[in-house]
Amino acid sequence: MQLIPLPAFSDNYIWMLKDQQRLLVVDPGEGSAVLNWLASHPGVQLDTILVTHHHADHTGGLSELVQATGARVIGPALEKLPVEHSPVAQGHTVAWGGLSFQVIDVPGHTLGHVAFFAPVPGQAPLLFCGDTLFSAGCGRLFEGTPAQMLASLDQLSALPADTRVCCAHEYTLSNLKFALAVDPHNAELQTYAGQCQQRRSQSLPTLPVALSTERAINPFLRTRAAAVRQSIQQHWPEARDDVSAFAALRQWKNEFQ
Ligand code: ZN
Ligand code: FE
Repeated sequence: MQLIPLPAFSDNYIWMLKDQQRLLVVDPGEGSAVLNWLASHPGVQLDTILVTHHHADHTGGLSELVQATGARVIGPALEKLPVEHSPVAQGHTVAWGGLSFQVIDVPGHTLGHVAFFAPVPGQAPLLFCGDTLFSAGCGRLFEGTPAQMLASLDQLSALPADTRVCCAHEYTLSNLKFALAVDPHNAELQTYAGQCQQRRSQSLPTLPVALSTERAINPFLRTRAAAVRQSIQQHWPEARDDVSAFAALRQWKNEFQ
């Protein structure tokens, strides 16, 4: 079982899983990127496409890929996609290549957004979380409320510590700038920022990242930690409960330069 981040557009990753000669892809915003990869890997069959949410940078390649390969498309029950798809939601599972993906509802970025989590025999578990959780950040609230996004991130944060978090964008360095402004004395955050800078200077992805790292460094998973909460309250003294603190932090990030 091989995990491959395929770069697309300027900062998307189309995550791919290869099992023998079978391929699964997640959120193919760009069909040509996947078709070019398939052309250079003769014999490999794309048979399954997972979609986390309806945005074009995650679905733009669906029609082309379905036409070229006949792959099945599995995606959010609550969202419309450019092609027909098998609708899934919380509690459903998707079997592929000996794995069983659990579907998790993670409303916030969009209302129907889903994530896919699977234990992997002999390897760390996998999480495909689309635009919900980014390394050192989280997705913008285009459709959902802060309360929904906080609950979604809480669900993801409760998965096994060694889970490999496969985010759909390489936003890590800009997120880290904000994280360091919010949580400047976090030693793990400082170390992680150095490692990410080094990886990006060699054009390597910062992803996947271990969930344990995110729990230690991501301010959006740490809005209840004393240091992060204090920092938020310096800007928004009225943000006293968990949801208001999370909403204030998301607002702060939107305005952060
Ligand atoms: Zn999106
Ligand atoms: Fe996106």
